[in-house]
Amino acid sequence: MKFDVLVVGAGFAGSVIAERCASAGHHVLLIDKREHIGGNAFDELDGNGVLVHRYGPHIFHTNAPVVSDYLSRFTEWIPYEHRVLASLNGVFYPIPINQTTINRLYGLSLDEAGVAEFLERAREPKNPIRTSEDVVLSSVGRDLCDKFFRGYTRKQWGLDLSDLSATVAARIPVRTNTDDRYFTDSFQKMPAQGFTKMFARMLDHARIRIELGASFQELRQRAEWKLLFYTGPIDEYFDFRFGALPYRSLRFEHEHLPEVEKFQAVGTINYPNEQSFTRITEFKHLTAQKHSGTSIVREYPTAEGDPYYPIPRPENNEIYQRYCAEAARERDTFFVGRLAQYRYYNMDQVVASALKATESVLSGA
Ligand code: FAD
Ligand code: UDP
Repeated sequence: MKFDVLVVGAGFAGSVIAERCASAGHHVLLIDKREHIGGNAFDELDGNGVLVHRYGPHIFHTNAPVVSDYLSRFTEWIPYEHRVLASLNGVFYPIPINQTTINRLYGLSLDEAGVAEFLERAREPKNPIRTSEDVVLSSVGRDLCDKFFRGYTRKQWGLDLSDLSATVAARIPVRTNTDDRYFTDSFQKMPAQGFTKMFARMLDHARIRIELGASFQELRQRAEWKLLFYTGPIDEYFDFRFGALPYRSLRFEHEHLPEVEKFQAVGTINYPNEQSFTRITEFKHLTAQKHSGTSIVREYPTAEGDPYYPIPRPENNEIYQRYCAEAARERDTFFVGRLAQYRYYNMDQVVASALKATESVLSGA
């Protein structure tokens, strides 16, 4: 088997790269060890006909017109703005923390300026800001940190906030107004027929051949290629020669509830301190699907299992940098995506990275 380009992994990174290379005239073999395209963004109808995300809730949002425009070639969209509540002893509070969260939690009726003053008194400024604990204490202080962040983070990562890089908690803003949207990006929308249909259209190209259930380790024995784009875990590519990079995994517990129109008020409810799962997501909020029943997923963080989250902390980055130096020495081989770049990337960041990588490789830059 001879191809111009071999792409390993059919998630966002690999699919974008395959489409771009094929459209530039190259013959592409795209493989994935899973039995489906779409990577972790894969969605499907469950046994009851509800569109669900097999690997947990995926909400598309971006500020990058180039990413939005590119994906719009392969899908129509429906508007969707994600909202999240946190459950504390059975009472629900908006997350990110906003004016409503603070007023409801402390029995106050502060306006925007009042909340800003409240937070100014509560915050414990840290300088420099190195860890996620520094981020949260600096912005909201200890009480809100312990109620909304410390327990959730311990569950999600198996680590204390103080053991994680600042970038993790910095994903969640703090607001003094009543805006209760999880994201404020200029483009917030979901693919009208789902992510998998969008991937199928992206990959529907005469010069793309797809092999599913095929691992790179097995395929490298029987295929030849000129360029390789690898989107799996970088440590695995190099046979773990500098040690295994730590990843956090999840166990997804899907459930269908017949004859339940709506299970919960918003798309996701977080359980920072109660329960051993972190959150419950109800898919019909995300997809606007009409159905007499509803389907939900609970996420249980685990140390073992598929690698879902790179763990941002300095010691892990040091190991990654060693792999990265090896990667730079590989001829005609490029590492792109959340696992290959060991970055806590959102979908749009992966698309941007894949577009950039393909453009620079194909233009010979
Ligand atoms: P992946 O989707 O992981 O694809 C890599 C593929 O490579 C996999 O399919 C894997 O099977 C394959 N592979 C690996 N090794 C090999 C091998 N040796 N041989 C063959 N195939 C191999 N982002 C958002 O923007 N919004 C969200 O709401 C959001 N929610 C998320 C929720 C969860 C629970 C998780 C885990 C992630 C979420 N993300 C979200 C992030 C998003 O999933 C990623 O940014 C994106 O899917 C990464 O794409 P990728 O192609 O880099 O990796
Ligand atoms: N986080 C938290 N409490 C929350 C929401 C988030 O402590 O209610 C922290 C937690 O460490 C989490 C991180 O912020 O892992 C990033 O949250 P996000 O919702 O972006 O996580 P993802 O959707 O990527 O799992």
